Amino acid sequence: MDRIIHWADAIADKILEKKNSSRIATGITPSGHIHLGNLREMLTADAVRRAIQEKGGDAEIVYIADTFDPLRKRYPFLPEEYDEYVGMPLSDIPDPEGCHKSYSEHFLEPFIESLDILEIPVTLKKADEMYRNGEYSEMVVLSLRNRDKIARIMRDVSGRDVEDNWSPFMPQCKNCRRINSTAVTGFDGDRVRYRCSNCGFEGENSINEGKLVWRVDWPARWKLLGIDVEPFGKDHAAAGGSYDTGKKIAREVFSIEPPFPIVYEWINLRGKGAMKSSKGIVVPVREMVEVLPPEIVRYTIIRSRPERHIEFDPGLGLLEIIDEFEDAFRKSDRSVELSLVGEITYSDVPFRHLIVVGQIAGWDAERILEILERNGHEITETLREDVERRARYAKAWLERYAPENLKFRVKNREEIRSEFSDDERRFLRMYAESLQDDMSAERLHKLVYDVAEKAGIKASRAFQAIYKAILDTKHGPRAGYFLQSLGIDFVRKRFMEI
Ligand SMILES: [Zn+2]
Ligand SMILES: [Zn+2]
Repeated sequence: MDRIIHWADAIADKILEKKNSSRIATGITPSGHIHLGNLREMLTADAVRRAIQEKGGDAEIVYIADTFDPLRKRYPFLPEEYDEYVGMPLSDIPDPEGCHKSYSEHFLEPFIESLDILEIPVTLKKADEMYRNGEYSEMVVLSLRNRDKIARIMRDVSGRDVEDNWSPFMPQCKNCRRINSTAVTGFDGDRVRYRCSNCGFEGENSINEGKLVWRVDWPARWKLLGIDVEPFGKDHAAAGGSYDTGKKIAREVFSIEPPFPIVYEWINLRGKGAMKSSKGIVVPVREMVEVLPPEIVRYTIIRSRPERHIEFDPGLGLLEIIDEFEDAFRKSDRSVELSLVGEITYSDVPFRHLIVVGQIAGWDAERILEILERNGHEITETLREDVERRARYAKAWLERYAPENLKFRVKNREEIRSEFSDDERRFLRMYAESLQDDMSAERLHKLVYDVAEKAGIKASRAFQAIYKAILDTKHGPRAGYFLQSLGIDFVRKRFMEI
């Protein structure tokens, strides 16, 4: 394949043409498990950050957690009593599992831990704190003063009708605590009068007790935080969508240039559709970083251009991505470079082999190394470190995401329940007699065909006999490597016993 310029480098070049120093914004609402689809935003930002820095520029990522967003509805994973919290800010709602101080913290904290594991450095800003401590106040005043102008932009750009009593600001109702049910009835410079359609309450709030509507909040934070670059999902990028209105509001109301946009596509969970925490179709990031090495999690996303849709399959599909990574690793591939975390080394033991060897060895580190040595690997300190690290992930992946047909257990002779026909027994005996101690995996594999022919049995039945004799099933890992990993002595003895 030609060495074409990586998407992150192409974007970094464009950004550096304008400015040497950039603040990249990301924003995710912690309304449910933060998933791989959301992580695409962070990893897109981080790949660009790394590329900018490698080219001599400065870049930092600001992560604005939308903790002040209202709970839109009672999601399927929430108990019934959460009906009463719909419309309240996520930061004001109790943790559904009771382990954190709020709903938003419950989903935010594991995600922040994951960012650390994935080495994505962010400056964290929580929207509820930003509003309540007055960081937004100047923007709120400016928005309320420019209410008519913003309403006109919204109408012109989005084509939506804007109601006469529409306001860019949503005060939080002092009575029912909802943030999405108030209508502003007056504004005197620092107090906002409102009426709540949910509980009928009428009252007055300071400009720090409420939030801007999303379409105004977004450009306001560009100004407030000095944002130059922002990756966002394709929903915001639609014609007349929030980026279109945001651009115009940024220029005409806040007098700034909108950030350089990086639009990314959704990640679908194979066979389930787009990942959405509201529908429970998710692979939580916190879970992924326990099951997979961080460089693989990063590579899963960084290998594809942002505008390319990703069909994610945590089972076999992921194993193919790992094969690709291992292959690319040896070729100093740019996606691999942008995915590496810390000082790690890779030995020549494929993840696929670790799955087989680990199961044979019962995941005992020393036994795994013994088998690898028998397979012809030189056991260096580097290999030992690498294998110990990745074997832990191989075990976790196998338990959590692997299809059943990759799992096996080497049985004792007494546990074998399978029936063997005379020609199967003859094949196993002849195979055992043909074994030599130093046979390679390829040689062992080919020997199955040779002996099957001599024994007058079809190769497919010969393989079945092998798996039945060891695993008590009709299928198993690729035979040559499997038999070699088990050890010639073991195989010879077992086949003679059958
Ligand atoms: Zn919790
Ligand atoms: Zn109310």
